[in-house]
Amino acid sequence: MDVADRVIDSGEAEPPHNRVTHQLSAVEDDVAVVESFSHCWVVDTDEGLVCWDASGVQSGPVVVAALRGWTDRPVHSLVYTHGHVDHVGGSGAFVADAEARGDIRPRFLAHEAVPARFERYRTTNGWNLAINRRQFGGIRNRANLGIGGDGPRFLVEDVAEPDQTFRDRMSFSVGGRTFELRHARGETDDHAWGWDAERRTAYTGDFTSWVFPNAGNPQKVQRYPIEWAAAMRDMLAIGVERVYPAHGLPIVGRQRVETVLGDIAEALEHLAGSTLDLMNEGATIDEIIHAVRVPEHLADRPWLAPQYDEPEFVVRNVYRQFGGWWDGNPANLKPAPEAAVAAEVVALAGSIESVVDRALELVDSGDLRLACHLAEMAVAAEPTHEGAQRARADVYWHRRAAERSLMSKGVYAAAARESEAALGGEVAGDGLRDAVRGALG
Ligand SMILES: [Zn+2]
Repeated sequence: MDVADRVIDSGEAEPPHNRVTHQLSAVEDDVAVVESFSHCWVVDTDEGLVCWDASGVQSGPVVVAALRGWTDRPVHSLVYTHGHVDHVGGSGAFVADAEARGDIRPRFLAHEAVPARFERYRTTNGWNLAINRRQFGGIRNRANLGIGGDGPRFLVEDVAEPDQTFRDRMSFSVGGRTFELRHARGETDDHAWGWDAERRTAYTGDFTSWVFPNAGNPQKVQRYPIEWAAAMRDMLAIGVERVYPAHGLPIVGRQRVETVLGDIAEALEHLAGSTLDLMNEGATIDEIIHAVRVPEHLADRPWLAPQYDEPEFVVRNVYRQFGGWWDGNPANLKPAPEAAVAAEVVALAGSIESVVDRALELVDSGDLRLACHLAEMAVAAEPTHEGAQRARADVYWHRRAAERSLMSKGVYAAAARESEAALGGEVAGDGLRDAVRGALG
């Protein structure tokens, strides 16, 4: 809390803001947090514990152990702020803890769209494993295919289904403490935030995460930047004075809450509003992503750092929410195969070497966006061309080094590793990777 106060009051970052210590800290006499991925907030009442989020499948048992170092009371209720796996995956550990201790099973509360999300994760298991791996820079190989019955599961089998769901609002009381759950779309369509009116405390889940809002994610389903901003405004209007988030630091004090939540709302409102303005003028997504930026005065806010998601992707999500999948380029409505287009361009350039050389020149001159297009074309035209694959790996390692968000870094690292894998053992090993990384510092 000291770190949070300092960072918010000064506007100076003191990373890491998202700590995964698995230690429990008592923040009030009867409220504690286990810092994990995600955090688990715990309210201690005479009737049992109220927990906010179960953390992930790997961290769940560690979180429960930390909890048991603090109190012996059974878990009465556990709220899923939303159905992402890092918030629900640890639920099996909470159930196992209750069984081992002879307690009654915790009651799981969630928004009514959470069960449908769980079902979607089961239907698209292989896809979710693949895109998650790519988000973190990995590529698919024989060892981690992850498809079919006995392979890994994106959503663990022992996840606890919600026992009670709600649509817009729901109140519940445990041991004399009353909490209201409120639904708002933001990072997800199934998000809830909790409101303790007596303590003026909001349990915000991922609405506040100490990174730029995950409202753009290039590989995932629709996010809701406009509704996210509206939820921030609702929290401010209701009089929140303490914010207990699922990632990052607590925000305590009305002024600090206004600063952080106000900034998040303003950034999202600006991105969404500017995108909609341009859409209303008939602009294409290409024109929009190169025009819309976060306002200058918000660019360096420690609680808006684009370390996970980033503003350009939020713009795309606004476009997708109100537009279609088509990018406005008539050639892309019903396109030729990318490999055929690339082969034409390479033929026009005279040789694949000239395309590759130009890609590397563009890296040197700092135009990494353009360099990537040429590297892609070279490899699409001739996937077995060693020089093209080597250049593509080089281009994407440079691109990765120049990016801040984990999502961009992950996609570019995955692309570089694909090319290294295509090159086979000789240059695909750690030698090239280390050489390139060494060159990048
Ligand atoms: Zn989360």
